[in-house]
Amino acid sequence: MTRAVGVPRVPPAPAASSDEARQRMRANGSRDTAPELALRRELHRRGFRYRVDQAPLRSLRCRADLVFRRVQLCVFVDGCFWHGCPDHMSWPKANGEWWRAKISATIARDRRNDYLLDAAGGTVFRGGEHEPAWLAADRVAAALESSAEQLRSEPKCQRQLTRRLAGDVAMPIEL
Ligand SMILES: [Zn+2]
Repeated sequence: MTRAVGVPRVPPAPAASSDEARQRMRANGSRDTAPELALRRELHRRGFRYRVDQAPLRSLRCRADLVFRRVQLCVFVDGCFWHGCPDHMSWPKANGEWWRAKISATIARDRRNDYLLDAAGGTVFRGGEHEPAWLAADRVAAALESSAEQLRSEPKCQRQLTRRLAGDVAMPIEL
C-alpha cells in the first residue's frame, strides 16, 4: 500500500497487550458497525436512499460509509476510539506511544480526505459513534438540503471546473 502524502508514518503494530486490545485491532476499519447501521435504518425510514461503503473519488483510497450521489454528500460515522473523539477517547496504557502515532495518523488522514473531497466538489459529513441515530439523521437531512441548494445555485460549468481543478475528472459520484 502506498503511503498517503501528508499522513505520518505509523510504525508496525506491537503485539496486542490483552484480549481487549486484540479485539479492538481486529475491529478496526470494519464496516456495518452498530451506529452506522442505526443511522442507515433511520435515514431509510425517513425515505432517504443512498449507497453504502463507496469510494467517492477514484484517486483517493477512502471509503465513505454512505454516499448520496446526486448531491455528492459523503457520510462518515467515526468510531470514538479510532478517530480520537475528544470526548470519549481514552488512551490505552499499554503501547501508549504506538497508539498515539496510530490515532494521530488516522486523524491526519481524516482531515486530508475531508480536504480532498471538498476540493473535488463533494460535501463531507462526519457523525460520531456517540451520536444518537435520530440526531445524526437530522443533521444529514440538513446537509442534504444545503448541498442540494448549493447545486441549484451553482452553474454547471463551475462544478465541472471544480472537478478539473481537483484533478479527478473521473469522479464516480454523479451530479
Ligand atoms: Zn465520541
